Amino acid sequence: MFRSIRWRIAVPYILLILLAMAGLAIYLSNLVRDAYLSDLEAQLTAEARLLADALATSAPAEPLDAFAQRYARLLNARVTLIAPDGTVLGESHEDRTRMDNHLYRPEVQQALSEGKGRSIRFSRTMGYEMMYVAVPVKAENCSVGFVRVALPLDQVQRNIARLRNAIVLIALAAAGGAALLAVGIAGRTVHPIRRLTAAVRRMTAGDLGTRLLPSTRDEVGTLTQAFNQMAERLQQTLATLRQEQARLQAVLENMADGVIITDSEGRVQLINPAAARLLGSEGRGRSFIEVARDHRLAALWQRCREERREQTELLDMEPQGRSLQAIVTPLQGAGAEACLVILQDLTDIRRLETMRKDFVSNVSHELRTPLASVKALVDTLRDGALSDPPAAQRFLDHIEKEVDALGQLVEELLELSRIESGKVPFRLEPVPLDEAVLPAVERLRPQAERAGLRLECHLAAGMVWADRERIQQVVTNLVHNAIKFTPPGGQVMVSAVRQGDEAVISVADTGVGISPEDLPRIFERFYKADRARRGGGTGLGLAIAKHIVQGHGGRIWAESREGAGSTFFFTLPLAPGSPSNPDVG
Ligand code: ADP
Repeated sequence: MFRSIRWRIAVPYILLILLAMAGLAIYLSNLVRDAYLSDLEAQLTAEARLLADALATSAPAEPLDAFAQRYARLLNARVTLIAPDGTVLGESHEDRTRMDNHLYRPEVQQALSEGKGRSIRFSRTMGYEMMYVAVPVKAENCSVGFVRVALPLDQVQRNIARLRNAIVLIALAAAGGAALLAVGIAGRTVHPIRRLTAAVRRMTAGDLGTRLLPSTRDEVGTLTQAFNQMAERLQQTLATLRQEQARLQAVLENMADGVIITDSEGRVQLINPAAARLLGSEGRGRSFIEVARDHRLAALWQRCREERREQTELLDMEPQGRSLQAIVTPLQGAGAEACLVILQDLTDIRRLETMRKDFVSNVSHELRTPLASVKALVDTLRDGALSDPPAAQRFLDHIEKEVDALGQLVEELLELSRIESGKVPFRLEPVPLDEAVLPAVERLRPQAERAGLRLECHLAAGMVWADRERIQQVVTNLVHNAIKFTPPGGQVMVSAVRQGDEAVISVADTGVGISPEDLPRIFERFYKADRARRGGGTGLGLAIAKHIVQGHGGRIWAESREGAGSTFFFTLPLAPGSPSNPDVG
């Protein structure tokens, strides 16, 4: 109960009021008692003086006891007459003979020295508290005794007690009223604080939209306003933070580089999808060493933790065949030994680099062979073959063939590079299928016949989006290969069908076929399957065909059975104007 501000305010007030009321009651009752007593004293003194005067003026005719009793009745008080030596000479209420010497009673002693004496004490003779007042009786300036008048104080005390009770009652009532008031005021003061507390609780539970109407204009009202402002700011800040976080999250999730953050205990605090993919392991909360699964990466990270310096290393991850550039940086402000690990996948860049190197070496190789044979032929001519004209003619024919081959290689290289770099844009237009395919086939018919082959052509009607020249180049390359790799007596079949929204053009032969190992690689530049059988090609024809078909938005692929023949397919998008029924043949 005393934990609440309401009671902490109210209780001290109640105690203070009670204390003040008690003090007031005591003070008032004392004041009233003193006033009563001094009144009584004045009354008793006057009566004693009256008696003393009566005694001094004329000696009473009756015995002194009777005198005392008469006056006692008149004054309604106890009257005692005392001789100067203290002997009691007359007494109104007691048996005088049993009373001891009264000379040393305080009131008598005081009357002796001061001319008037007063004392309040418990009378053993009467059995209650009394006020005694004594005055000397003087005859011709000589003390002949003392008159003492006394009254019991029980009446006075009853009066005082009644008064005190009344004061206590009033004090209690006032204290009760004040307490109620204090509790009420404290309650009213605390009520807005309670509302604020409830609002803060709601905010803590996540309801950030909580606002309060200031109910007072005092400090609590100001506090409520400050609370509202704080809630507003908090809401804004949180919204901004959430937005930032969402942005960061999106960046982290979609970036190609892997990002890992480890805490000071070496546990993974954050890992983005790219990092999980590159390392082939998930693992928030697991240790980095477990997640890295590579001792070189773990060592690099450990070194960064120890030296607090950036560490970089290129790692070839064996099982996945990836090249990873790992950069480990100490993370500032995230606790000692916290690190940021960035993994960059350089596999493609390295593959391109390798391809470039391979390309240069392939080109050099392809150039070297004909150049070496030209050089050898020239040397032979110089060494005397010139004097043998028929042989010289043969050598010259040979040289011409090699130079032609070189020229073709250079031509195809240039063509490939032009297509790859996109410098010669394709002029796509709707072209009837037969116009795109037939001229190339017809151009090669004499060559096929020379090679003892049957060349057939089945083309569906239809229009395709194509650059006429380029597509003829593709068909030429494919049919040329088919003729080249098919032994005499075989057949080459060119066909085109419509499938869905594209045309599929195929060139099938009954030739030597392609081994399953070579099949996936024949579209690479300079790739030649089974070099022993090659008929002097450059290995660039299919690479050029692939680029042209892809430039048309089509696909190219090959199917083959070694020894039984090969079929090359490519697709082209159909243009408007094609008959809508699928045509399979
Ligand atoms: P090339 O100028 O050597 O013919 P290509 O790029 O046209 O170069 O062909 C690459 C390789 O693919 C050829 O060397 C050959 O081994 C294989 N190839 C292509 N077409 C056929 C086919 N119709 N039959 C068998 N092998 C083929």
